[in-house]
Amino acid sequence: MSGSGQRKRIAYIDHAVDIGGAENSLVELISRLDQSRFTAVLLHTVGAKWLDRPELSDIEKIAVFQPISLLEKRRNEVAARRWPLIWNALTTMRPAWLLNRALRRAKIDLVHTNSLKAHFIGGLAARLAHRPLVWHVRDLLGEDEGLGLLRRAARMLQPHVIAISQAVARQFTGLPVEVAVIPNGIPLDKFTPGPAPPKLHAELGLAPYDQVVAVVGRLTPWKGHMNLLEAVSMLTESCPSLKVVVVGEVAFWEPEYEQQLKQRASQLGLDERVVWAGFRSDVADILRLCDVFVLPSVNEPFGRAIIEAMAVGRAVVATASGGVPEIVVDGETGLLVPAEDPHALAQAMAALLADPQKAQQMGEKGRARACKHFSADRVAKQVQEVYAHRLGT
Ligand code: UDP
Repeated sequence: MSGSGQRKRIAYIDHAVDIGGAENSLVELISRLDQSRFTAVLLHTVGAKWLDRPELSDIEKIAVFQPISLLEKRRNEVAARRWPLIWNALTTMRPAWLLNRALRRAKIDLVHTNSLKAHFIGGLAARLAHRPLVWHVRDLLGEDEGLGLLRRAARMLQPHVIAISQAVARQFTGLPVEVAVIPNGIPLDKFTPGPAPPKLHAELGLAPYDQVVAVVGRLTPWKGHMNLLEAVSMLTESCPSLKVVVVGEVAFWEPEYEQQLKQRASQLGLDERVVWAGFRSDVADILRLCDVFVLPSVNEPFGRAIIEAMAVGRAVVATASGGVPEIVVDGETGLLVPAEDPHALAQAMAALLADPQKAQQMGEKGRARACKHFSADRVAKQVQEVYAHRLGT
């Protein structure tokens, strides 16, 4: 380990191959570290797609995981094994042992894990290497998705938990671990109000007079796209120029889900109304283009895309699930509806589309709220306070 007075070396461990909210947030955090105090070292999966972000160009990177075994299982598959503890222990051991060696060689002072599987594997490695451990927890787990396992691991590994919302923090209630709630933040200088590029409408096949609702997020069942499709099908008469721009791609472990969504859209007669935009790197512009942002998640730990939409000045329609009510002020910055209720979702979207002035006011309040509470700078400051506390510096 580096001696006191020197910069402390923080290992960031994330098993993901694709980029999602967790990886976006991690990149924002690393690029804001106080370099006079901390040095980041990224321990990652071979071929991880998010490492080419320019903010990471000068960061030390060590490829540790192969995207195999435990790493490619869905969390409910992992939890449903007949002997989950034994099975998980076996599949966790090898990557944990490799990580333990990497942590020692790289002279790491503190381990920060950023994804669910990294909490287990990186946590074990941190314990083997006798390094302090911080879990940045970004998931909301059901009982059938390994919540019990996560709680047992927390009891055993004793991490300092950073939870991205109160809803996420509640998963650790009653456990003898320290929990800090640090809500996600975004780069407010990138998500600003303003006009979308003139060509974007045409690129997405939209007419200038279309009313546009956008949804941003991975195409995975818990994000609730199916409910959104149902809701849109209820609005075809009352909102004849409504178009829905769906931004995001499927996770590699469930490629069939995209086809299922498209089939459902066809069955509902929505082929002309839904724009499947795929993965986009210009999310801020798409948010600027839309009239209303919607996130129909069934159980949302946080929903970074919501604060991005707020920062751009868009009213939000979202489900009152997980951490979302901590972000959206119902009736002020958007409208909250019950999860899995397409009818309520349709009503809320229709209400805002019918009253653009109200939507604009909500968007302005959303922007103010995002600037006050959800900046990436604030997250970096609070996370570094946790490091200082754990390292006794
Ligand atoms: N995102 C993106 N392009 C896409 C889809 C998503 O850049 O095509 C970004 C989005 O802007 C947000 C993140 O990925 O920053 C998704 O984070 P969120 O918390 O909303 O969803 P999750 O992490 O659960 O997928």
